[in-house]
Amino acid sequence: MATCTICGEEVETTFSCKMCGADYCANCGDPDENVCTYCNGDEEEESFEDL
Ligand SMILES: [Zn+2]
Ligand SMILES: [Zn+2]
Repeated sequence: MATCTICGEEVETTFSCKMCGADYCANCGDPDENVCTYCNGDEEEESFEDL
């Protein structure tokens, strides 16, 4: 088990952010981009893909 630095949840797997080094879970970042949600701050308007 590992603990997500972002949300504090215990999860099976965490990913390490390449920007800030935070250990984030799949809900708190983008494993494909290797960035946590804090560093994935693309302020683009085209964010409808999550809907
Ligand atoms: Zn998390
Ligand atoms: Zn980060």
